[in-house]
Amino acid sequence: MKKFITLAKKLYPINRSITGKGVVKTLKIIKASHLPKLKIKKIKSGTSVYDWKIPPEWNIKNAFIKDESGKKIIDYKKNNLHIVSYSKKINKYVDKKELNKHLFSIPKKPKAIPYVTSYYKTFWGFCLAHQERKKIKGKKFFVHINSNFNNKGFLSYGELYLKGKSSKEILITTYVCHPSMANDEVSGPVVATFVAKYFKNLKNKYSLRFIFIPETIGAIAYIHKHYKKLKKNIIASYCLSCIGDDRSYSIILSKYGSALSDSTALEALKKLKIKYKKYSFLHRGSDERQFNSPGVEIPMTVISRTKFGNYPEYHTSLDNFEVVTEKGLKGGFKVVKKIIDLFQNKIIPVSTVVCEPMLSKRKLYPTTSTLRKNQIHQNEKNILHFMSYSDGKNDLERISTLINLPINKVTKIFKFLIKRNLISEL
Ligand code: ZN
Repeated sequence: MKKFITLAKKLYPINRSITGKGVVKTLKIIKASHLPKLKIKKIKSGTSVYDWKIPPEWNIKNAFIKDESGKKIIDYKKNNLHIVSYSKKINKYVDKKELNKHLFSIPKKPKAIPYVTSYYKTFWGFCLAHQERKKIKGKKFFVHINSNFNNKGFLSYGELYLKGKSSKEILITTYVCHPSMANDEVSGPVVATFVAKYFKNLKNKYSLRFIFIPETIGAIAYIHKHYKKLKKNIIASYCLSCIGDDRSYSIILSKYGSALSDSTALEALKKLKIKYKKYSFLHRGSDERQFNSPGVEIPMTVISRTKFGNYPEYHTSLDNFEVVTEKGLKGGFKVVKKIIDLFQNKIIPVSTVVCEPMLSKRKLYPTTSTLRKNQIHQNEKNILHFMSYSDGKNDLERISTLINLPINKVTKIFKFLIKRNLISEL
């Protein structure tokens, strides 16, 4: 059975936005079909979150445009991309000039309905394929949008926490706010769901947290609500976006490109012998923008198949199941699973002392009497090198590279120091 695509096709038709029933329906399907312990949580509209405010909850029942003959020339019920997300209520006749100010199409992609939003500016609008727009005739049009803004509504999100042996955790985030598009929407939640499902019954070394949030405002709200806990526990975090096409593999590194999440993702791709494209943080676009931002500084790496913006169907109705396939989704799953698998065996040492330890006081060289003086010196140096990089940001492999010492020697130092309580494991 094609299990990934089955869930993707269930989620695809839902009209999602940053708030509203579509988000909740999406989360309920994931919960009912695969992750019964997924918690669906909500934050009130109007809540201040850093520089932002949770917008009113937006829902829409119907939207269409009729021409003079009464024929529907655009019908939201045929494709939810036809409506600009967060369009206001309207019920009136407009002339063609007025109508054109509210229509969106892409002349260079005549068959594609574009994806347009207007979350924070009161507006109404429709999107359509350019080839359909050219067919529009007449002078007068009847526009109907039956939408609703609820100031007492909520922004909803989903969260699943899998407790591991360590309270330190790996965060996987994905978004649930785009309407009917396959790669830039449902691929992320689908892959995250199957990764969570795979690990939920295993004894994991690190705790795993999966969040399904509306992009940008959801991430900001989530960080605002959980900042201290996130800062304390997260050792690596990933954003899954556009992870279901079978064209390529991509990674966007965290802000400085040197986080444990970056090196582990690169290690996974290398071990899987996968060719990939590596992008710097300057190519960011999803919730890594918020997690890596000043004041938050939780390094987040993006895992994608073909990166957002880099495929021709992006943000249009052409982003469908010709773009996203079972094979594509499984490829995305394989990479994320491998990353978490690697963490299961990682040893991340943390110094138990502040500043350098006083080595002489601790008699750390019991065998050194047999060594020559320069070797003694080098052993001491290696210990201090090891301690310097034992800041919870590196595993043994990375320390081995950083201090130019073979992994077997690094492992020996680790065992030596842990016995003497100078190091603990994250
Ligand atoms: Zn997008």
